[in-house]
Amino acid sequence: MSIRELYDAKEGPTLSLEFFPPKTEAGKQNLLDRMQRMSALDPLFITVTWGAGGTTAEKTLELASLAQKNLNLPVCMHLTCTNMEKHIIDDALMKCKISGIRNILALRGDPPIGQDWSDLEAANSEFKHAVDLVRYIKTHHSGEFCVGVAAYPEGHCEGEAEGYEQDPLKDLPFLREKIDAGADFVITQLFYDVEKFLSFEVLFREQVSSEIPLIPGLMPINSFLLFNRAAKLSHASIPQSILQKFPPEIQSDDDTVKSIGIEVLIDIIERIYNSTSGRIKCFHFYTLNLEKAVAKIVANSPTLCNTLEEGEDENEEAATSEPE
Ligand code: FAD
Repeated sequence: MSIRELYDAKEGPTLSLEFFPPKTEAGKQNLLDRMQRMSALDPLFITVTWGAGGTTAEKTLELASLAQKNLNLPVCMHLTCTNMEKHIIDDALMKCKISGIRNILALRGDPPIGQDWSDLEAANSEFKHAVDLVRYIKTHHSGEFCVGVAAYPEGHCEGEAEGYEQDPLKDLPFLREKIDAGADFVITQLFYDVEKFLSFEVLFREQVSSEIPLIPGLMPINSFLLFNRAAKLSHASIPQSILQKFPPEIQSDDDTVKSIGIEVLIDIIERIYNSTSGRIKCFHFYTLNLEKAVAKIVANSPTLCNTLEEGEDENEEAATSEPE
């Protein structure tokens, strides 16, 4: 089913979940079991990531197809378009159609670690930006895919090494271009600064679209090290008010960090939901394939707890072990 149709039909708050394809067969089975349990959180949809340059193409397609077939949930497959032969894109779209996957998150992708765009021979010059993939899908597969795109509440980090500063205002015309090309919904980069997200939402409504679903991306805090690393990699700032909740003496105590992190995420969700009068109603979790923190956030968030199916408490025990 199309995410846009489901979103428009949904009256109350909801959530979505991102997973990435595990490397091993055992990891895949483990994750499928976990996804099955997490479907009790009643997500509107789930997404499966794609390794830039097609590095995980086979595993992404396999996981997305299995999830679409087994979970009775709409799957959105991420697809990057640069630094990759065009036939990989065509093949992926064809396989999605065969598997019943009707939602694609159209992305540009990044160069491999340690390289930048100037190091790479363009594998396919037709696709320079995500907008080219949105246009390609909407032109060559008209009516067959609901297409999402990425946005950056604090600005995209392109060209940082050359002194370019993150500024969401600079990206907005290009985000608008993706919507004009036919994108149906937007998922944001992870962030922890609610004020920055709320300012971005106002800009988005004024300069991009008053109607397109804007879905904030949230990453639960599973350890202090991972929290800092993810924020750094994503160029997301951590407000002082959040950092203060993690004094040095607790930073290596994962259980304590996790439970404070759950409160931090719940506060972010409540502030966004209560400040946006229903304009933001879906919250996207970068799960890192982990279950426990997301399950606890949903169970304890006044906004999201109503999404839980009856009997969900029984799953809590399963959710407290995290075999990877
Ligand atoms: P674009 O929209 O093309 O934007 C990239 C940069 O180019 C921006 O600075 C933008 O302002 C600029 N720009 C855009 N259009 C133009 C134009 N016409 N002219 C000039 N400048 C332009 N990466 C993966 O490899 N796999 C994934 O599964 C994945 N999932 C993601 C999911 C989400 C929700 C997000 C937010 C990111 C994800 N990424 C993923 C990372 C993403 O590929 C990178 O952030 C990448 O650097 C930008 O992708 P984009 O689609 O936003 O690119």
